[in-house]
Amino acid sequence: MNGATEDLGATLTFDLSRPGRIGCAVAAPDVPLSPLPPAPLLRDELPLPELSQLDVVRYFTRLSQLNFSIDTGFYPLGSCSMKYNPKVQEDIARLPGFAQLHPLQPAETAQGALALMHGLQTELAEITGMDDVSLVPDAGAHGELAGILIARAYHESNGGGDRQRVLVPDSAHGTNPATAAMAGFDVESIPSDADGNLDIEALESALDGNGDSVAALMLTLPSTLGLFEPQILRIAELVHSHGALLYGDGANMNAMLGRVKPGDLGFDVFHLNLHKTFSTPHGGGGPGAGPIAVTSTLAPFLPTPHVRRNPDGEFVLAAPERSIGRLGLFHGNFGVLVRAYAYILSLGAQGLRDISEAAVLNANYVQARLRDAYRLAYDRRCMHEVVISGSRQKAKGVKTLDIAKRLIDYGVHPPTIYFPLIVDEAMMIEPTESESKESVDAFCEAMLAIAREVEEEPDTVRDAPTRAPLRRLDEATAARKPVLRWQREDGV
Ligand SMILES: *Cc1c(COP(=O)(O)O)cnc(C)c1O
Repeated sequence: MNGATEDLGATLTFDLSRPGRIGCAVAAPDVPLSPLPPAPLLRDELPLPELSQLDVVRYFTRLSQLNFSIDTGFYPLGSCSMKYNPKVQEDIARLPGFAQLHPLQPAETAQGALALMHGLQTELAEITGMDDVSLVPDAGAHGELAGILIARAYHESNGGGDRQRVLVPDSAHGTNPATAAMAGFDVESIPSDADGNLDIEALESALDGNGDSVAALMLTLPSTLGLFEPQILRIAELVHSHGALLYGDGANMNAMLGRVKPGDLGFDVFHLNLHKTFSTPHGGGGPGAGPIAVTSTLAPFLPTPHVRRNPDGEFVLAAPERSIGRLGLFHGNFGVLVRAYAYILSLGAQGLRDISEAAVLNANYVQARLRDAYRLAYDRRCMHEVVISGSRQKAKGVKTLDIAKRLIDYGVHPPTIYFPLIVDEAMMIEPTESESKESVDAFCEAMLAIAREVEEEPDTVRDAPTRAPLRRLDEATAARKPVLRWQREDGV
């Protein structure tokens, strides 16, 4: 392991600084010098580190190597689809014609970009089986907010403005109840049954009591338990028979691409996470795009701007007739839209179908290989991810957190843990469609080896990670009192 890694946190560029050392020599200027800004704007002593170029290159290269990323290893973070995304999409998104557009330039000078957005709206409508699409939302949670505001606007326009309740299954991603609460609704949790499906009786009684007070049910498909909801048609019928809308969280559409269209299942509005399913790397919280697809009934309420094509072929930015308005600046996260469109076109219909096949096959393969060593949360076929439980290991004194930390020693990023909340000691594993059998096998071998260590040498697991540059962090303090800034010793 190299020196900088061992010194992580102790050595900064400031510590490497030597007075007078410079990065590169610049020739004397042969053009007239510009005057400096007024003196009060200048600091005579700016305490910047003085380094050679080689020092700087080595410092930042070593720092970058400390990052775990999909480019360096297996990253089975359930619900987040940390898959490999083809690098060609990065080149395409950086083409000057896309990257150097100004969001305020007149639409007639950005016809190519608008054509791309219109094409993407059309493709996503086809993929979801819905009638229209908005590309405005900048994340999955933002798409949820758009969808729930549309549900409110729809009910208000139909005399249902007093519908105050939004139903959310107890397995849902936290953004679902948070969205409904942010939009001012009362959130009601619907339990899951013993098989991990929505408890239909509980749904019926929530609707039957005073069903005309329900604005929407927010259902995730596949659920965050990694399961398809076999009663989806019945659920849609029940919700609609009470005048409520069915919202679909489709963040993990990689499980269904080319096989199931949410529009055929009865969803009224459905969001997609382009940064999970459609080729944008999203480590560190962004960037993202969470388009929503809607039925023709809800299309007039879509946020603005919406890309349309005039009969003469010109692309324009329009405001839908009863639009919920603007949700952000400009047109959404354009670079993410470029990547998604390029991805869809390069794969074609068959390629998209192959994604869902590989995603589901890989997750079921992991389930089959781990089923004897770990308890399955639900013993049935899964979709793109599998939720297992560390409860057996916990009984032996090794927590799921320890198992996650031990995986780091095996060169694997830990899966999502302690979520979904309804599974004891949950580990939510999404191998994704982009991994080979060899790398999925290597992950399974690591999980099986850790299960053996729990039996034979539990302290090895409890003390993990031993091979990471930093061991166990005080995550609560790191989040509450982050130290993000270098302070000079004299406090300046
Ligand atoms: C990731 C995810 C979200 C939230 O998406 P963001 O883009 O992070 O806001 C919502 N629901 C599910 C099921 C998800 O996996």
